Amino acid sequence: MRHDPSNSDLRKLIIGVEQKIPLSDGKYVTAINFDNAATTPVLYPVLREINHFAPWYSSVHRGGGYKSKVSSDIYEQGRAVVQSFVNSDKERDVVIFTKNTTEAINILSYVLSQQKTQQKVILSTFMEHAANDLPWRNKFKVDYVEVDRFGRLSIEDLEDKLIRYRGSVKLVSVTGASNVTGYLNPIYKIAALAHKYGAKILVDGAQMVPHTSVDMKSFDSLEHIDYLAFSAHKMYAPFGAGVLIGPKKDFMEGNPFVQGGGAIDLVTHKRVEWDEPAGKDEAGTPNAMGVVALTTAIKTLQSVGMDYIYQIEKSLYDYAISHMKNIPGIKFYSDPYRDDTISVIPFNLEGVYHHLLPTILSDEAGIAVRNGFFCTHPYCERLLGLSEEDINHYFEDEDEMFPGMVRISFGLYNNYKEIDKFISILRIIAENKEYYISKYSKNLSSNQTMKEAGLCNHMFNHGC
Ligand code: PLP
Repeated sequence: MRHDPSNSDLRKLIIGVEQKIPLSDGKYVTAINFDNAATTPVLYPVLREINHFAPWYSSVHRGGGYKSKVSSDIYEQGRAVVQSFVNSDKERDVVIFTKNTTEAINILSYVLSQQKTQQKVILSTFMEHAANDLPWRNKFKVDYVEVDRFGRLSIEDLEDKLIRYRGSVKLVSVTGASNVTGYLNPIYKIAALAHKYGAKILVDGAQMVPHTSVDMKSFDSLEHIDYLAFSAHKMYAPFGAGVLIGPKKDFMEGNPFVQGGGAIDLVTHKRVEWDEPAGKDEAGTPNAMGVVALTTAIKTLQSVGMDYIYQIEKSLYDYAISHMKNIPGIKFYSDPYRDDTISVIPFNLEGVYHHLLPTILSDEAGIAVRNGFFCTHPYCERLLGLSEEDINHYFEDEDEMFPGMVRISFGLYNNYKEIDKFISILRIIAENKEYYISKYSKNLSSNQTMKEAGLCNHMFNHGC
């Protein structure tokens, strides 16, 4: 039986779900946020804990004062909370607090690039966010595991490439869940394959960790996840914290990515003795508030239950798909009927430029969605069927309107009622395209005509 989240108490956990916002006609409606894959709103328990901690807040690791010790203790204890959340090894792993996933992967790429090994290949994939592609490029030979015609990762191609590179793959660097299509990758199967061929695995957990349970598994297991990165702001905890987890010994050697105070043991003008990890990789004043927010969010999500969260969000996904598919002109860019997914849906409404639809949805119904390539350009280019020639054209002609998609993504607090409103306005737009294109095309820049906004053939050819 399908779980009905409409009456869920979970909404009460979230700040701002009843916030009124203005429409283009001046009326106010309750804001609907379907852009949770970008960032999530704030949990009440997180803000309460921030307030609770604020009188005790002081410099971490620096002062001898009482509050400084309290702040340092809370910050350090945060590592254990993170470890038990993802079942990382308390003896052998280190939890490094970062700004976000992007910084975490940059740190890892810098650290691994200093290791003296013959393994110089990183196997990334076609579905990676720029955060898990660009940091590898200038330090390693990077190759990309293929996706099939629905955009799903090809495990066969992964194994082929692992065989072809014959022991020189250092790392398989893969997203746990796609921020474009929502597909959940089989990370344990991928880990087992990587280990079978002598490589390690990094899971970019930015989209996975907030939506389903993740287990790094023991070091003895073939399915062990060697490195994991994720961001607090995607799990209802702003304040700028992120996480990188990996074997402590890997961070002992070499120089840290960010260098400065806090990362050092002893320094002269000739010599630097680095601190031990994690301190070594956390130069500068640590983000105590961010860690309080993150650990409170983790405890709150654990008390709700990660499996329960997955189930709720999957119900929302199924519900949205079952209604969207009946709207004329909707084109999906992923297999809508898959099972293993977080609740992310990429689509276009035929005849309405992807850049225009979010404005219409916001100004007409107070619904927030996102459009474009979602910092995942090669994957979106592939899903839209763009050739290299097409892309070069966009590189060269700045006035050319970029193709793209619209994305909706749900959080644990969204409900069927909100989806009903979305479906209803989407249907109205689909049935009155000319009217809405004409009304909103003025929002595009002056050299972008109404024809381009709605009816550009070039866009259609590429799945707009
Ligand atoms: N990886 C994935 C899959 C993402 O979706 C994102 C952000 O959208 C990132 C990495 C980067 O996360 P952050 O911006 O928090 O560093």
